[in-house]
Amino acid sequence: MEKRFKSLSLFEFQAQFPNDEKCTEYIANLKWANGFKCNRCGHDKYCTGNKAYDRQCSRCNHGESPMAGTLFHKSKLPILKAFYIIYYLATTKNGISSTELSRKLALRQKTCWLFKQKVMKAMESSQNFPMEGKVDVDETYVGGQDEQAIGRNEGKKKIMVVAVERKGKGVSRMYGRVIETASKKNLKKFMEEHINKDALVRTDGWTGYKGLESEFPKPTREKSEKKGKNFPQLHRSIMMFKAWLRGVHHSVHYLQAYINEYTYRLNRHKMKEGIFENLIKRMVSKPPHTYKMIIN
Ligand SMILES: [Zn+2]
Repeated sequence: MEKRFKSLSLFEFQAQFPNDEKCTEYIANLKWANGFKCNRCGHDKYCTGNKAYDRQCSRCNHGESPMAGTLFHKSKLPILKAFYIIYYLATTKNGISSTELSRKLALRQKTCWLFKQKVMKAMESSQNFPMEGKVDVDETYVGGQDEQAIGRNEGKKKIMVVAVERKGKGVSRMYGRVIETASKKNLKKFMEEHINKDALVRTDGWTGYKGLESEFPKPTREKSEKKGKNFPQLHRSIMMFKAWLRGVHHSVHYLQAYINEYTYRLNRHKMKEGIFENLIKRMVSKPPHTYKMIIN
């Protein structure tokens, strides 16, 4: 049994969440952990609402379910099945496809796909923990001619900027972002959001990084003859990401969502907080992500 994640075993999960009611209670406790605040008028007094765990504002009578205004908002899934999807996505080393989820949970594949997209939204980086120490940055193409298996059927080649935090011979963290062009502006924004100012940053010397020295005071430029030679950890990380992507997904549509999913699990494997609990917390604290927002 692989002990990669500090997480609930399936047995513990089932004992803690035996039914919809326990899941709803868990969400309500998280959502109103710091007290109630009406999301219509801001009042902080309430009485019980129509259903168990609903709350109704005692000033404006606005009723609110624990799920309202969160990533669980208007989900048609029974809440227990939604919890199972989150559980599998959090604790399965390489993730799980919507097809497999639909088989395991007796749900339509489309339903699983849509909810999975919402969970992937919750996996998006909080940008609260920028990378420190030794950091390598580079861009890579995903899809198109370089990536036959992905690009054959649909979607075009996309550019992704990737940064890894090195630790010994390995990588402790990784972030990635789909960018329109490898312009200085796009690279700078990504680096500012994910890399600490004091980090020792290495780039491949691509012109897009010129002028970023002042932003990151300790960049070491390395002449690269062959890609992958100077930045073995970075390029291995990129290769592994691409291999994973080919395994689960066959186009570059929704690439950012898949980057979020992959790096979320990778970056969390040494964290103390349980990955499942963290993911549920994020689901509750983030605003709704609708079908319309997803397909755009
Ligand atoms: Zn109110």
